[in-house]
Amino acid sequence: MGFKAKARKHKGNSEKESQGNKRSPVIEGQIPCGIKSCDGFADKSMGGRSLSIDNAIDVWGSGGYDERKGRVRVCKSCYRKWKKDNKSEDTY
Ligand SMILES: [Zn+2]
Repeated sequence: MGFKAKARKHKGNSEKESQGNKRSPVIEGQIPCGIKSCDGFADKSMGGRSLSIDNAIDVWGSGGYDERKGRVRVCKSCYRKWKKDNKSEDTY
């Protein structure tokens, strides 16, 4: 009685879940970080800075960066790295 095999209804349930999955805020800037080993962006709005060539060489060595008009644009994290390596003594 009532021995109905539950028919596997193939509902149109296979909506792609990728929809509305824009959770990863991939922030893209306009100016790529000048450090070759870095994928960051050096936009000012993203905390980017520009260092002098000498400064860049101190940390990344010659050839480890791309220069632009005598300056090296670096992203926020690269700037931090540089700052770490160059503990400016007049700050403290
Ligand atoms: Zn960087």
